[in-house]
Amino acid sequence: MNESIKAIRGMNDILPTMTGWWQRVEDILRDTAMAYGYEEIRLPVVEMTPLYARAIGEVTDIVEKEMYSFADRGGESLTLRPEGTAGCVRAALEHGLLHNQSAKLYYSGPMFRYERPQKGRYRQFHQFGMESLGLSGPDIDAELILVCARLWQALGIADHVHLEINSLGDADARVSYRQALVNYLNIHRSVLDEDSQRRLDSNPLRVLDSKHPATQEVLNNAPILADYLDEAAAEHFATLRALLDKAGVVYRVNPRLVRGLDYYNRAVFEWVTTALGAQGTVCAGGRYDGLVAQLGGSPTPAVGMAMGMERLILLCQEVTEAQVSRQADVMVLGQGEGYSGAALVLAEKIRDGLTGLRVLVHMGGGGFKSQFRRADRSGARFALILGEDEMATGRVTIKWLREERDQEVMSQEEAVVWLRAHFAL
Ligand code: ATP
Ligand code: MG
Repeated sequence: MNESIKAIRGMNDILPTMTGWWQRVEDILRDTAMAYGYEEIRLPVVEMTPLYARAIGEVTDIVEKEMYSFADRGGESLTLRPEGTAGCVRAALEHGLLHNQSAKLYYSGPMFRYERPQKGRYRQFHQFGMESLGLSGPDIDAELILVCARLWQALGIADHVHLEINSLGDADARVSYRQALVNYLNIHRSVLDEDSQRRLDSNPLRVLDSKHPATQEVLNNAPILADYLDEAAAEHFATLRALLDKAGVVYRVNPRLVRGLDYYNRAVFEWVTTALGAQGTVCAGGRYDGLVAQLGGSPTPAVGMAMGMERLILLCQEVTEAQVSRQADVMVLGQGEGYSGAALVLAEKIRDGLTGLRVLVHMGGGGFKSQFRRADRSGARFALILGEDEMATGRVTIKWLREERDQEVMSQEEAVVWLRAHFAL
């Protein structure tokens, strides 16, 4: 026997038992993005490697160790996209979407990062992202956060995620803050975990992100970014907070919140849950006013966010009523001479008359007992039975599968009307 070939570690098949969840969540995401005037953009899954090095930053976890990069047959270095913002901005510039106008764009699809797979962390995962290009905020920043709040309501997880915000300030402030942080951390260098010691030289702001207890202890007395903000960034952040207060959004200012991608500035935010263990961030975003110019456009303010679909769906499953996977609303079954033709025709009549109803036809023979077992598993509410008698008289027997009620016999035309009434279609 040939050895079977397996999927790549950290890259998951999404099976029919789960795709119902994905479709539900994706529908809600799309509808909500649309309700705020965002339009969909569909982007390639592969881009030129330098796009990510330039946008995300050379000294970031993503670019240093998480990218799937390879040389194509022409020798060009390409990368499977690790995130969507860089490609989105590249496309907006390439197609002139920002000429004298702003753009509100959303996208969704697979992203790729070479990380250690675990619950909520995969090598192929999916993001839904929204980017607003051309507005300096903070009203648009606040609106983006309101989009999230509305999404959590619609998904039924609002009580299980909380919002953290911070301001990273602008480039100048970050330079002086970075120096102050490095000076402080250098005094305590020997106490820091190994990763943080390394980051202290390469990307010191990321030390703020460390989960290591000894490092956290040191960080408790570290200088705070907020004290280094210039006036414009401080005002931007204060107004954002006032807008969130006005809209009734609850948040916590987390002075240590930094993002793992270099392009962020000013306001950044994360929606976090405690229900998923270590992988608690379901959505992250912020302002990236420098990125468009960095990628060759004229200076254009921008703000965006991305949510991890797998984590969102895990959370929905964890905290909301689990949705049973259901193949059918109605199942046609029976036996006898001419059953196959009669069943196919009846099912077509029902589909003609009741758009949207899921109609399954039993095929493959077998006795009534096993057919009813299958009907039960399908999730159907009603079985439409075509036995010898029914076929002889052009009638059909309707049996309730989920309730103890008397079955009914009627003509096929009446059955369509009866079903319409019972499904309230
Ligand atoms: P984390 O700190 O969990 O590594 P991140 O800061 O790298 O997240 P972003 O690049 O901001 O994440 O991506 C936005 C969202 O995408 C995250 O909040 C998370 O929900 C999701 N995400 C990121 N990496 C993964 C992954 N490897 N597997 C599943 N979801 C992911
Ligand atoms: Mg990460």
